[in-house]
Amino acid sequence: MSTVYYGPVINPQSVTDYRALPQCLICVSPQGDIEWIAEDVERANLNDVLAQHDCAPSAITLVCLADREFLMPGLVDTHTHACQVPNMGVGGEMELLPWLDNYTFPTEARFKDVKYAERAYPDVIRRIVNSGTTTCCYYGSLHLEATKVLASLVHDAGQRAFVGKCNMNQNCPPNYIESSVKESVDTTLDLINYIEQLPKSACGEPLLHPILTPRFAISCTEELLARLGEVAQKNPKLAIQTHISENKAEIALVKSLFKTKSYAETYDKFHLLRDNTILAHGVYLTEDEMVLLAKRGSGVSHCPTSNFYLSSGMARVGMLLDHGVKVGLGTDAAGGYSPSILTEIQHASIASKVLAIQAGDKKCKCSGGHSESSGEDDMKQPGQFTNQKLTIAALLFLATLGGAGVCCLQDRIGSFEKKKAFDALLVSVHDDRGNPALWGYNPDRDLTQGVTAQSADKKSLTEWLERFLFCGDDRNIKKVIVQGRTIGGRDYHP
Ligand SMILES: [Zn+2]
Repeated sequence: MSTVYYGPVINPQSVTDYRALPQCLICVSPQGDIEWIAEDVERANLNDVLAQHDCAPSAITLVCLADREFLMPGLVDTHTHACQVPNMGVGGEMELLPWLDNYTFPTEARFKDVKYAERAYPDVIRRIVNSGTTTCCYYGSLHLEATKVLASLVHDAGQRAFVGKCNMNQNCPPNYIESSVKESVDTTLDLINYIEQLPKSACGEPLLHPILTPRFAISCTEELLARLGEVAQKNPKLAIQTHISENKAEIALVKSLFKTKSYAETYDKFHLLRDNTILAHGVYLTEDEMVLLAKRGSGVSHCPTSNFYLSSGMARVGMLLDHGVKVGLGTDAAGGYSPSILTEIQHASIASKVLAIQAGDKKCKCSGGHSESSGEDDMKQPGQFTNQKLTIAALLFLATLGGAGVCCLQDRIGSFEKKKAFDALLVSVHDDRGNPALWGYNPDRDLTQGVTAQSADKKSLTEWLERFLFCGDDRNIKKVIVQGRTIGGRDYHP
């Protein structure tokens, strides 16, 4: 039986545009794909519109949204480490390389014990799903068996995801390193095969995909990167995820290890840059590297919470967009201290505003006759987005359609369109849900007599969205829906 949702809908369109539709109908097939959408349907015309689509009331399940509820596409997390979630919120006084040695590697090493993975991973996945993440790119540890546990649990949870096992055979502690290139490649192929054998979803396509995961250049020998490049070339559809240009000390080490001119060139040399490559961070990418990424079609996962927490820096998202590089958002647990893409939206906004303020300051100084060499690069190419703060449309895009593009899933998810999968959040900004700050906009609320109803018009719906993005959290997410099926949220009781 098809399900027809009726109520306010937010539908991203592009970096600069989204649609706020106060009275929208979305029909979802039993397989979880969108069959049709009807916009601007008055309640009085509801039955007529359903009849026009051959939807007899007895043949569908009609879900009418309640006061202050709306639907939006599910959030896409293009970069996180499931095995670091147990370590979230500690170590933020360090920068990347010492943080890895002191906090991260010891935490990940514990996943050698499969029983530990079986205890830890269910809660990790539940928290990420309930945060509204309908598609997630997971790094596991280097351990094959623990990462199989992660993959199985994600599969059973019904989340759309990519799961990869880290490749790392150098510059890692003795108790957390792969012993040979052969072991690293063989276990990777084993995991890929394991994930591909898992049952498909009701729509006939897999929701879970394997992903090649060289941890970062520093942790892989040239021979390992070369072998992984061969695996990639034999499997053009196999996605790839790794880190790039997160921290200045890291970049210097990469250049000295591989004798390359740039970090991006290092991966390119081993055929690891292509349209289904997801590169986390990109804080210090040069314009030449941006041109190369755009040419290869590779995407960047912007992880601002992590970049602030580990004092890495601020990625120039506007400049990446102006160069035609695909960009999405990533939580990067536990460099980031939140499982929620909402936190990334908030910090992406702040990072873009700081960059815009700094660029404005440099401009003032330059026009005053002082030259600032560090600012010349930024000012050479203003572009549409460079040094501009990210708008609500842009932030929403990065968290949905942009992330979908980074995962090469833009034809399936990221917005509501006929034939796309129905991956959605049912959000409530009703006063009794979530962050107390959401109260603030309803001064008519009578705490003893109930709540004054507010119908959705376009303006109030856009305000609901902005308040949810900046004041909201998992308490505002009633349902998390993947491929038409509710898999999480406050109202999910399996
Ligand atoms: Zn990371």
